[in-house]
Amino acid sequence: MSISQLAKSIPASPTLALNDTARILKEKGEAVIHLGGGEPKSKAPIDAILSASAKLNSAEIKYTPTEGILPLRQAVVRYTEENYGHLTTPKNILISNGAKQSLSVLLLSIIDPQDEVIVLAPYWVSYPEMVKLAYGKPVIVTPEDGGLEPTMDDITQAVGSYTKAIIVNSPSNPSGAIYSKALIAQLVKYCEKKDIYLIMDDIYHKLVFDGDEWTSPYQFAKANEIKSKLIVVNGVSKAYAMTGFRIGWTVANKNIIEAMNNIQAQTTSCASALLQVAAIGALNGLQSGVESLRTTLQNNRDIMISELRTIDGVRVEKPGGTFYCFPDFRAYEKSAAKLSKLLLEKVRVVTVPGNEFGMDGHLRLSYCGSIKDIKEGVERIKWALDPNAPNEIFIGDRKMVRDWS
Ligand code: PMP
Repeated sequence: MSISQLAKSIPASPTLALNDTARILKEKGEAVIHLGGGEPKSKAPIDAILSASAKLNSAEIKYTPTEGILPLRQAVVRYTEENYGHLTTPKNILISNGAKQSLSVLLLSIIDPQDEVIVLAPYWVSYPEMVKLAYGKPVIVTPEDGGLEPTMDDITQAVGSYTKAIIVNSPSNPSGAIYSKALIAQLVKYCEKKDIYLIMDDIYHKLVFDGDEWTSPYQFAKANEIKSKLIVVNGVSKAYAMTGFRIGWTVANKNIIEAMNNIQAQTTSCASALLQVAAIGALNGLQSGVESLRTTLQNNRDIMISELRTIDGVRVEKPGGTFYCFPDFRAYEKSAAKLSKLLLEKVRVVTVPGNEFGMDGHLRLSYCGSIKDIKEGVERIKWALDPNAPNEIFIGDRKMVRDWS
């Protein structure tokens, strides 16, 4: 069978593969704890469900314009004004099948072969692969100080004549770190000066803890709308617990939106008519679900961090947002893939190895599940790592005996 060079260059999505493994083990009755998840447990907002139900009952579910239905683009205009303090228009918005498609259509629209896109480690697993799918070259920037936020120096050293764009994800998947206001300001100004696209993936921007401030990039932008190279991607997946609805959007200058529109028109036509209506319900309806998700996650984070800090040698920065943290396990094992495999095989805990996010020795742990799972999951990890712990542990009704050191 002949497979394209492009397809051969793209590995299977590690996070989706982990979900499969966890599902198979669970189906076999194994007491798996999934700390690898990427979606909130809560239900979709009632306003999303009511809007979608009414649309479904009408039995008129047709194609929509490629760019998305006007009322949804208007809802995104209002959302952008309220949350970003930025005035925009429906012509500056494209609705896609999730923020993931927004990003991939965007990259296809701006990258020429060999163009470089700067990706900040630890990064969301899909960025480098999406850049490669557009025949671009991902250039990974790792914070020199070993932390989770790069400095402007780290970034500018990586910028060259082929640099087309910088992708920023704050709060970040996998670390939960929120980049400082100073860094966002510098990035916006630098990209304007250098005429580089600045892509802000803000999918977690409402899931921010401790009253911390999340920074709207627009407040530092000077370029007018036509010239602006500042692009915002967002969606309903995380804050509204609507991952399966697959609705995301891009806010950008009209030329970019038009180019994206042409590419999307020839690939997926449009996002589902039904689910666009659901997204309108979520954006225009009661917002209390977002706040209750945020406070639940903040509480879960506190529990996970305090449990992790009981493990000697594990270093973990308290995440400012999202539902992930990114502890450093190098005191025990330098290879995150090896450690993640051991934890799944020996104590049935699913974690995502940090090398997938461009930072080995760390594991991404999610706290979007139940408190019971968070506590028991970290307890099992602690047992697996501690050579002085009792030799046996019960996992479900199975006795596990330590046969490693
Ligand atoms: N960006 C980041 C950083 C993400 O973590 C995710 C989801 N895992 C996405 C984008 C994609 O979200 P969506 O479900 O809207 O495609």
